[in-house]
Order: sequence, then C-alpha cells, then structure tokens
Amino acid sequence: MNNIFVYCEIEGTTIADVSLELLTKGRKLANELGCQLEAIVAGNNLKDVEKQVLPYGVDRVHIFDEPRLFPYTSLPHTSILVNLFKEEKPQICLMGATVIGRDLGPRVSSALKSGLTADCTQLEIGSHEDKKAGVTYENLLFQIRPAFGGNIVATIVNPEHRPQMATVREGVMKKEILDENYKGEVIRHDVTKYVPEADYVVNVIDRHIEKAKHNLKGSPIVIAGGYGMGSKEGFDKLFELAKELHAEVGGSRAAVDAGFCDHDRQIGQTGVTVHPKLYIACGISGQIQHISGMQDAGIIISVNNDPNAPINTIADYVINGKVEEVVPKLIKYYKKNSK
Ligand SMILES: Cc1cc2nc3c(=O)[nH]c(=O)nc-3n(C[C@H](O)[C@H](O)[C@H](O)COP(=O)(O)OP(=O)(O)OC[C@H]3O[C@@H](n4cnc5c(N)ncnc54)[C@H](O)[C@@H]3O)c2cc1C
Repeated sequence: MNNIFVYCEIEGTTIADVSLELLTKGRKLANELGCQLEAIVAGNNLKDVEKQVLPYGVDRVHIFDEPRLFPYTSLPHTSILVNLFKEEKPQICLMGATVIGRDLGPRVSSALKSGLTADCTQLEIGSHEDKKAGVTYENLLFQIRPAFGGNIVATIVNPEHRPQMATVREGVMKKEILDENYKGEVIRHDVTKYVPEADYVVNVIDRHIEKAKHNLKGSPIVIAGGYGMGSKEGFDKLFELAKELHAEVGGSRAAVDAGFCDHDRQIGQTGVTVHPKLYIACGISGQIQHISGMQDAGIIISVNNDPNAPINTIADYVINGKVEEVVPKLIKYYKKNSK
C-alpha cells in the first residue's frame, strides 16, 4: 500500500532502458519516503522477466503475462494499471515519456482523477505549504520540468490526489543496478481479473520499427552544431570532425529547423538527452531548452564568436572564434595527431 510503482515498458521480452532508469530513481525516492518500490510488467512470454528488474532494488514485481498484451495496445494496459492501482493505492507512479507512456499515462491519470506531469527533468521529495488553506503537505513528489517555453523551471505538486504521476524521457535519469541478488516478491496476476475481453478490440497485425541511424545517446563524444553553423554545408563539416574523433553529431533545434540536420539528432528538452564524456558545442547559444539535454556532459567545449554566449557559462573551455575557421583547424590537427 502507498508504494512507488514504475510501469516497465517492454520490447519483446526486454525491459526498456527508460524503465530501468526510472526504477533506479524510484528506489532512491522509496528510500527517502521509507516505502517499497514496485514494478509492473505486462506482455507476452514473461518467464524470468523479474530477473531484469529485481537488481534495481524492486521489492515487488507485478507480472501480467498474456499473448495479447504484446505489442502494447492502449485499453488492456490501461485496465491493468487502473484496476491494480485501485487495489494497491500507490502514492507515486512513474513511466517513460515514450510513445507508450504518452498514451498510457493520461488514460490512467484521467481514469483515477490523479493528474500527471509530463517530461519531468527532475524528481524530488519535499514539503509544500498551501498558505491560502493554511496546510502543509509533507513528503510530496516534486515534479520538476521546464515550463512556459522553458523560461522557468516549474515544480509541480499534487497534494490531494493519488497517485502522483510523472513521465520522464529516456536518458534523463541514470540507470544503476543496486544489487544483482536483490530479493523481491514476484506476483503473477490472473490477467482476466484485470482486463475485460472487450479491451482486446485492437489486434496488431504488423509492426514496423525503424532502427536508429546513430548512437547519439550512447556516444562518449558528441559534437553538436547550432544555427551558427550557417548552412547545411557548414554543418556537414561536423561529420568530418566526428569521423576523426569517433564521435556522433547532434544539433540544436534551430539547426534542425533550418534543415542543417535530421530531427532525430536534436538535443534538448524536445530532443534527446545525452551524457557524453566530451561535448563540443559549435555555434550554439545555449538556451535552457538545449542545455537541459546536455548539461551532464563530462567536459563541455564551446566554439562561438560571441564571448557572452550563455553556453560559455557552463563550458569548461571556450574557443572564441568563427566556426568556419575553428572547425577546419580542429579537423586538420586531429587528423595530424591521429596518424
Ligand atoms: C518548448 C520549446 C522546446 C525547445 N526545445 C529545444 C530543444 O530540444 N533543443 C534545442 O536546442 N532548442 C530547443 N528549443 C529552442 C531554443 O529555445 C533555442 O531557440 C535554440 O536552442 C537555439 O539554437 P541555437 O543555439 O543553435 O541558435 P541561436 O540561439 O541562434 O544561436 C546561434 C549561436 O551561434 C553563434 N554564432 C553565429 N555565427 C557564428 C559563427 N560564424 N561562428 C561561431 N558562432 C557563431 C551565435 O553567437 C549564437 O550564440 C525549444 C524552444 C521551445 C520554446
């Protein structure tokens, strides 16, 4: 009762990284609250699936195993969460801000009248004083995310309704195994008790999943270009530099909007979040929406002709100059040094 639940997304029989990241965060929050961490896995052929989640410090795993639960469809998965939550009364529910989470989260929260904060960038526990009502609420989930176009970072709380629901994008939280041999209870539910037959109205006949063309999220070195790259041809120089450094190339939203690079390379609040060891930002001003997707990089180098560009304030090294001059030099000298 009143525990933290993480909905674990599954592809085939493999739990998604975003869910493992949320289990890691969920464990930390559960420790702070002194409650248990529970995971929900719904899919097909889930023998031994608990072995993938228990090491993250999960105290109870709820497994719903039935052929029609994979691939994901909205109605059965919604019924599972809504009916399970009516029994278990969780205080917090977390899920990935993925295609599935964006579909499932609002359905569950509206069925339970709980509210939901999408795309959180931080989750913390804290207290909130409602001065008007003269009430202080302890141990609330602070659901933190950029708001009003990124001009403020908002902390959203849900004092009265439960569960407090939040979605988080992949890569925002870090995944970390707690203990390979962590012992938790495994509950295999009778799916028919949770999902009415009518929920299986949608039958997925064929699925096509496009493979990622790059490894931006996992690359130890990321070179990112912004609007300051000037043109697609100018931006393409970054691919040359990336080849020398065995790096991946990303872009700011302005670069994507200008057609300098593909949308799937966008880094930031509405793109991907990266945690490389080295991030080289070329012609990027460093607006909050961009920074929220790369600020955890180990070392940040900024190449910019404006010494007062906001990104310079978080950069470890600043190269003050024009990208047209600096980038070819970097290519030349890295080429020379790697011979
Ligand atoms: C809801 C919302 C979500 C958003 N999500 C994202 C997101 O996910 N990711 C993202 O990146 N943005 C996002 N944005 C947009 C963001 O606010 C900025 O507009 C964007 O990041 C700016 O991109 P930029 O730094 O490439 O361009 P600019 O702000 O135009 O900066 C260009 C920089 O290049 C420098 N420069 C110009 N010419 C040269 C040169 N020749 N040599 C060297 N430097 C040069 C300039 O000094 C400047 O610093 C979002 C905005 C909103 C409202």
